[in-house]
Amino acid sequence: MSVDLQVAARKVVSTNPATGEMLRELDCARETEVQAAGLRARQAQTAWMELGVRERVEVLRRFQRELLGKKDKVAAAITRESGKPLAEALTTEVLVVLDAARFLIANAYRILRDEAVPHGNLAAKLKSGRMLREPYGVIGIISPWNYPFSIPATETLAALVAGNAVVLKPSEFTSLVALELGSLLHAAGVPPNIFQVLIGDGATGVALIESQIDKLIFTGSVPTGKRIAAAAAARLLPIVLELGGKDPMLVLDDADLDVATSAAVWGAFMNAGQTCLSVERCYVHRSRYEAFLSACVEKTKRLLVGNGLDTDTDVGPMIHEKQLRIVESQIADATAQGARILTGGCRLPHLGTNFYAPTVIADATHEMRVMREETFGPVLPIMAFDADDEAARLANDSEYGLSASVWTRDQARGEGLARRIQAGTVMVNDVVSCFGISEAPHGGVKNSGVGRTHGRFGLDEMVRLKYLDADRMPGMKKVWWYRYGGGFARQMEGFIDFQFAESLRKRLCGALRAAGVVRSRKL
Ligand code: NAD
Repeated sequence: MSVDLQVAARKVVSTNPATGEMLRELDCARETEVQAAGLRARQAQTAWMELGVRERVEVLRRFQRELLGKKDKVAAAITRESGKPLAEALTTEVLVVLDAARFLIANAYRILRDEAVPHGNLAAKLKSGRMLREPYGVIGIISPWNYPFSIPATETLAALVAGNAVVLKPSEFTSLVALELGSLLHAAGVPPNIFQVLIGDGATGVALIESQIDKLIFTGSVPTGKRIAAAAAARLLPIVLELGGKDPMLVLDDADLDVATSAAVWGAFMNAGQTCLSVERCYVHRSRYEAFLSACVEKTKRLLVGNGLDTDTDVGPMIHEKQLRIVESQIADATAQGARILTGGCRLPHLGTNFYAPTVIADATHEMRVMREETFGPVLPIMAFDADDEAARLANDSEYGLSASVWTRDQARGEGLARRIQAGTVMVNDVVSCFGISEAPHGGVKNSGVGRTHGRFGLDEMVRLKYLDADRMPGMKKVWWYRYGGGFARQMEGFIDFQFAESLRKRLCGALRAAGVVRSRKL
């Protein structure tokens, strides 16, 4: 018996954040089990790849049917383990995954099939080129707790349809939802070794990076992302990093205030603010500032905070106490520097230990942590600005660049400003919902990450490009091979001039046309 097997397994505990009830205690996968999972995945992957895209699309179709039939059960499992309201479990998790399957079912074959590469270089005209998209082999996925179903599922579906095996290490806080995803995939016909879940914590994630995976898709915080990037660099493991955000909302002087304030309140408080694309900071034109503040306060006070399983609930609990402490320390820092708390700003202990009141803060500045660091809680800090240029500068004054939004009745003005904002996505007159557009790439710039998930660019991340070059004249030696000799260099000069020196080319073509050698104006 190896030493590893004699050591008692580390445990992770799945808890209902609304009630504190322990749902299940599970063993973390040991290092040897992580290695074995990678090996099993590798061995099984060839057959999965050889099945072909059309067959794998059929598996996705069956998965979609399974999920549709069990949507209420899956949504309840998500709410129980993450705390979010049932309505959000259905829209931001189940619906997003059903739609991601829809996108892949409709488009995977077209995107993944061989693509002809026409050659522009005259020397390459006698060769045909094709781009092949081949699966990496085994894709490791490490996922967070805030979207415990939609994040790993959308990434998994793309990896699987491209012909990869997947080993998923879910967050230690939401293991049960990951096991539910496994049941749905296996029921749809995904072989057990083609999708495996490894329960565990950060150390299990470390072991996964060291296992036989060929690429890693990581979603989580910036500090963990940086650690993962360093570990991946040591073995040149390709990675996608979907990291944190500090998404700005820019409300211009001509915005529809009723719509923009509803968006701000929803964008800041949905999933108790624990959304990577949450409205984390809000900038409002000074002429609309006071009206904006009072409408946000009024709408926030109407929200019902409670257990997400109660269908009346708008805002559920936060995931755990540590997350509440981050919120508290940022609010203490903001108030010490002169910010005004207009509503909220406190825990709600009568509801449970993880509940925090949705909080609207006025007069925020960029000296405050709440405007610079990811809050990941139900907090809406608001600041006034005077001109569009200033709004763009404030939006870009951040180490993050996940998404942003611009609010205006003038579409051209909004799109113009959107182009100046450094972010993976900028929405004009909407927040957060780009995550649910299956065609749209999701990902960030700056510290918000590297690479993309979702849509065709997300599918491209799951394949290696192979360029297949076939010569149409296999019996002919190339003129640029040995030996060169002085004549060859002169011929090459002429060839280069013919291709690239515009005046010579025009003169030559004119002469050839005048001599009746060619008729076409194009040569
Ligand atoms: P986290 O970084 O603490 O953990 C994420 C995952 O990494 C977990 O599964 C964890 O067990 C694992 N992990 C921790 N240390 C590890 C290590 N050293 N090596 C390998 N794996 C390790 O993040 P979290 O608290 O679970 O999630 C919240 C964060 O995720 C926020 O910053 C949020 O913005 C971000 N997020 C980003 C996106 C996006 O798409 N950009 C989406 C959701 C969440």
